[in-house]
Amino acid sequence: MPIYEYRCEDCGYQFETLVKNNEEVTCPKCKGKNLTRLLSACSFTGSSKSNVSVSSGGNCSTCSSFS
Ligand SMILES: [Zn+2]
Repeated sequence: MPIYEYRCEDCGYQFETLVKNNEEVTCPKCKGKNLTRLLSACSFTGSSKSNVSVSSGGNCSTCSSFS
């Protein structure tokens, strides 16, 4: 399942979420729907597959920067 990175245009909150089919993505902070999907190079690097924990953020500083 793809994990996309979004930025909320309403509050500026940046987050990653797992997007299922036709599921509407809302900001976890303000519940806003004015989101911009960012290109995340963290989830799928293409080089090493499997054994990569996409939920923990891994060693990507961009992904693990949100708190
Ligand atoms: Zn928001």
